[in-house]
Amino acid sequence: MTAITVGVLALQGAFVEHIQLLHRAAQSIANGPRKALHQPPHFTFLEVRNADELQACDALILPGGESTSISLIAERTALLDPLRDFVKVQRKPVWGTCAGLILLAESANKSKQSGQELIGGLDVRVQRNYFGRQVESFEADLDLPFLESPFHSVFIRAPVVEKVLPPTNAVSAEKSPDTVLAPPRQATNAPVEILGRLPGRARAIRDKTTTAEELGEDGDIVAVKQGNVFGTAFHPELTGDERIHAWWLTEVVRLKSERIG
Ligand code: GLN
Repeated sequence: MTAITVGVLALQGAFVEHIQLLHRAAQSIANGPRKALHQPPHFTFLEVRNADELQACDALILPGGESTSISLIAERTALLDPLRDFVKVQRKPVWGTCAGLILLAESANKSKQSGQELIGGLDVRVQRNYFGRQVESFEADLDLPFLESPFHSVFIRAPVVEKVLPPTNAVSAEKSPDTVLAPPRQATNAPVEILGRLPGRARAIRDKTTTAEELGEDGDIVAVKQGNVFGTAFHPELTGDERIHAWWLTEVVRLKSERIG
């Protein structure tokens, strides 16, 4: 039986909730009525706080929380560069939720100039707090192409993917005073796939007299994947629904077998 260790970055934020849902997802993979994997591996789930723990992992989740705090603590604990190496050089599977998505973006708007470092890995520009303040948090049902039925999603001071960038470090020309950029990384040919949109939702929320239908937009991008890197603007770990975790674990297994195979 293959052994797979999945870490959750445990510097700040909702890491405990991710670990709980990972356990449920592993069970659903093993016991599900239609097995997603022929031979479910043995999963170990680990809270990651230092470079040694990170190196023990085959895959990693960056939780929601406060991206500035997470990056500051990662910098102080000398984890930033090992994280960049894990994501962009070793190219192991990584999933960021909310603040985690911000950290995985190559570029972020509305970031504090001091103290916001990015890990990068996703050729996108995100805008922090796009959906408003804490009191403007909301829930919405999302259609995701890898799930059979909609996923009830929780958005808390969530970012949006405001732009898919040209691949690999072509972002430097776009730097504006309140934009921070992740440092260079190894090139990838993987395209950015848009996996989730919130139809016309943000403006409909802000301007309560306008409906999403009236806006006629494609919708705000809230889930993306590029090769080994997956990001969601919402918090599946706060819902109790383990389906995205189960799907992502099967992706982790697939990517690991491709590496070995
Ligand atoms: N707005 C937060 C940030 O910028 C993210 C919020 C969240 O993870 N729920 O980091």
